Amino acid sequence: MELDKMDENDWKYHGEGNKSLVVSHVQHPRVLRLLKYPAEDSENPPQTAEQAYRQIQNIVDFSSNVMSSLLGEKFIHSGEVVKLPLEFVRQLSIKVQHQRPAWRCDKVMDIYSGCALCLPNLTSPALHQPTHTPPLCIEIKPKCGFLPSPKHVSKDIKTKVCRYCMHQHYKVANGKWKRRSFYCPLDLFSGNRQRMHFAIRHLIEEPQNNFKVFKGGQCIYSSKEGSDESPDMNSLLHHLRPYFLHTNNRMNSHVTSKAVLNDFIQVLVNALLSSGGGDGSVVADRQAEGRGFCEASIFNKERIRHGSRGLPSDSVLFRILQTQMLDTLDIEGLYPLYRQVEQHLQDFPKERTRLQIEGPYNEAFLEKLQKCPSENDGSVEYAVAKVHQYRVAMTAKDCSIMVALVPSSEEEEDNESLSSQRQLRDFRPPAFSYSASILDLDPKPFDSIPRQLRLDQKIVSCYLRTGGALP
Ligand code: ATP
Ligand code: ZN
Ligand code: MG
Ligand code: MG
Repeated sequence: MELDKMDENDWKYHGEGNKSLVVSHVQHPRVLRLLKYPAEDSENPPQTAEQAYRQIQNIVDFSSNVMSSLLGEKFIHSGEVVKLPLEFVRQLSIKVQHQRPAWRCDKVMDIYSGCALCLPNLTSPALHQPTHTPPLCIEIKPKCGFLPSPKHVSKDIKTKVCRYCMHQHYKVANGKWKRRSFYCPLDLFSGNRQRMHFAIRHLIEEPQNNFKVFKGGQCIYSSKEGSDESPDMNSLLHHLRPYFLHTNNRMNSHVTSKAVLNDFIQVLVNALLSSGGGDGSVVADRQAEGRGFCEASIFNKERIRHGSRGLPSDSVLFRILQTQMLDTLDIEGLYPLYRQVEQHLQDFPKERTRLQIEGPYNEAFLEKLQKCPSENDGSVEYAVAKVHQYRVAMTAKDCSIMVALVPSSEEEEDNESLSSQRQLRDFRPPAFSYSASILDLDPKPFDSIPRQLRLDQKIVSCYLRTGGALP
């Protein structure tokens, strides 16, 4: 990428979240992730160009030095900060504006700093040959996969119903979404194929901002916030059908939509459970502790035909869950420690640097959170380590998984079908090679913790008021 010859016509709108807007290159498998800020501030940006550069460098450092070591390097692409010509950024912002969903336009793209994060485009994996069927990429934002320990929470309901399921009631009550999703993260993280299948089916039915499908780099399936319409499942099935022709050895036209959907989910479950080269040993799951099942999930426990096996220890879901579980105290148990740190910083402002409150996110930061004493010895070091752990867990609760499904090359398939009688008889799973990546690994600000506590209280009290009663 020649930074002095940037042309907005080489880039197109790709997607956005709450904090950033992403454009993809029309030829190369690359994206630029630009910061956003509230539209009210559009005339005077909330930070200088140097601060924006620092913020993005912090994201890169946090991802490459901290999250990558916790989640596994093979899943992480940290990217690099780039400094873009301001004229290019301005033209780009005009070009993409009309493609942005209206409900995201309460924020504007940063056109002043010229800074962006350059990343590989995870929706167009390089291993795919352009002459073949385009890869399918599935983005899942799984959210928190465990229940907090009863030791630290004030409301019993938090040990029975997971945060995601409670939050659904809150979001519907506040009009953010018209319908509740029946996806429950505890089903997805269970490692039990039936429960995972169930979870993914509900992600497809009500994707909200937790599920997207890309084909050849284009988003072909996602939700529109606040909209009455459900996303177009028929159109999704239409796109998926050619990938699942061999299903049950029926002719293309005879494959039912149900079979296509089932196969698609099956392949996704396989990809999420695949161990990607390690020993893949299965570790004891959380069922035993009673923290792996959410009472709000509509999955019928009686349906489990095969006992849960737990997640393979080198699967992407296992690594994410382990990192989420660094939140051992829950926000309620953590908040007093946050206050202790805050007080300490008021008394000794210079300590902010030594304790690495706003970074740098380097090996020393990682060490601080890994070498946390097991008991609270009252020291500020303990409190800081727990706060750091909590922030890392927050990032892991908010990240997305991108699963890339690349259809095996046609030659390979031909060889296989020549030699196999099997195909005539029984189910032949569609041939894909798959890989998983983790994206959106920004550090969560230290001072976002009080907001977390308030939100938690609102969600829980809303659930207790309306919760079980709603359909
Ligand atoms: P959130 O609101 O979830 O915190 P965010 O503002 O932090 O989101 P991202 O999730 O990083 O932003 O990016 C927004 C969207 O852009 C993603 O959901 C994904 O669809 C797309 N995207 C981000 N990074 C990449 C990438 N490297 N390759 C392909 N698509 C990407
Ligand atoms: Zn749940
Ligand atoms: Mg995101
Ligand atoms: Mg994010």
